[in-house]
Amino acid sequence: MARMELEDRKDGESRAAGISSARTLLDLAAASDYDPESMPVEKAREHIRAFLQPVTAIERLGIRAALGRVVAEDVVSPVDVPQHDNSAMDGYAVRFQDLRKDGETTLKVVGASFAGKPFAGQLAAGQAVRIMTGAVIPAGADSVIQQEKAKHGGDQVVVLPVAAEGANVRRAGEDLRRGSPALKRGQPLRPAEIGMLASLGIGEVAVYRRLRVAFFSTGDELVPIGSTLGPGQIYDSNRYTIFGMLARLGCDVLDMGVIRDHPHDVEQAFRRAAEAADVVMTSGGVSVGEADYVKQILGKLGQVLFWKIAMKPGRPLAYGKIGNAHFFGLPGNPVAVMVTFYQFVRDALLHLQGQTRIAPLPSLKVRCTSPIKKAPGRTEFQRGILSRAEDGQWTVRTTGDQGSGILSSMSQADCFIVLPTEQGNVEAGALVDIQLFEGPV
Ligand code: AMP
Ligand code: MG
Repeated sequence: MARMELEDRKDGESRAAGISSARTLLDLAAASDYDPESMPVEKAREHIRAFLQPVTAIERLGIRAALGRVVAEDVVSPVDVPQHDNSAMDGYAVRFQDLRKDGETTLKVVGASFAGKPFAGQLAAGQAVRIMTGAVIPAGADSVIQQEKAKHGGDQVVVLPVAAEGANVRRAGEDLRRGSPALKRGQPLRPAEIGMLASLGIGEVAVYRRLRVAFFSTGDELVPIGSTLGPGQIYDSNRYTIFGMLARLGCDVLDMGVIRDHPHDVEQAFRRAAEAADVVMTSGGVSVGEADYVKQILGKLGQVLFWKIAMKPGRPLAYGKIGNAHFFGLPGNPVAVMVTFYQFVRDALLHLQGQTRIAPLPSLKVRCTSPIKKAPGRTEFQRGILSRAEDGQWTVRTTGDQGSGILSSMSQADCFIVLPTEQGNVEAGALVDIQLFEGPV
């Protein structure tokens, strides 16, 4: 059905819609293994990935402002980090060859080296220099004895042996070598990366521009917060969860409000959104019964595929291009919105932002303490609460009712419990895959 509709429009409308890439969504829809009625999660992700064109515009930002952006040009280290051999401990800088292997050695203390205030002289045979953590290793010295292994009295110090030459010394360049790539194009800038840039003395970095994402909710039942609910009406919550998820990914968010279920309004909204943004997102209006007029509008404005994903929640999903904008039509149910966002949109947005190595959501196997009912044939993303058992092992249990409208299940959860397609019922005590919601970095 969906394939036929797309085939019918192959005659040049795709050009009118500004689509020039070699392989179009229409080609995909014509492929022999393409089944929009039962699309595996992995396949949908792959299809989407094939059509993403990352932003290319670059700007130079101060490193604080660049936090969360994606590096647009490799950064080569202009210096060795650390610049000098320095001490990893408070103690005494010594020559390894002076130390007895089998017992204490008495050395003469000839000075001190502090962080930022190095010892100016040269260490001769039988001498030691008092040294602090981070201070430059004096010329002639090659090892550091930690102060717990030394007894200092007058100008003498008695030290125990160390295992090897170079003990307790941090080598120049051991963190980064001059001329080596410190950061690669396509890397996201997290706290560690902006700290690394600072350690190189670099205050500005080339990053890709932010992705602009326009979104609106559809549905006559939706009321913005601040108004009173009439009979059968509900507050529009998806715009807020979507805002939150986009803002966390560092997108510029263009909130277009609620659009009535009326062809003219919906068409205008799509046109405006696609002109203003790199990505257009909607919630609602793609489920059976509603999708038909939305399909017609999107068919006129671009190339959009409508899928029934073999997953729960989040079965209906639309993906395509409207002009140059990427389009994600998410389902209306509040949990389905979040699940489809994390399973499809997040990955795609990171890619569009210019990231080249996108780690999947962190996933681990843990023991599930509650039994779960599940029919084979679709991937389920149940909401899970993690806890630590007495033996130190992590366990997970579901949040209870898994209805796709129960947003509190997402709020209570720490993770998705991912139950693969073939999986049937889960017995209490079985291992399950989880995807963590939060990471510290
Ligand atoms: P739809 O996909 O438009 O049929 O919507 C599916 C379900 O999600 C319906 O119960 C809607 O009322 C609900 N829904 C749709 N959009 C929103 C929204 N923006 N906020 C909260 N609930 C919504
Ligand atoms: Mg609706």
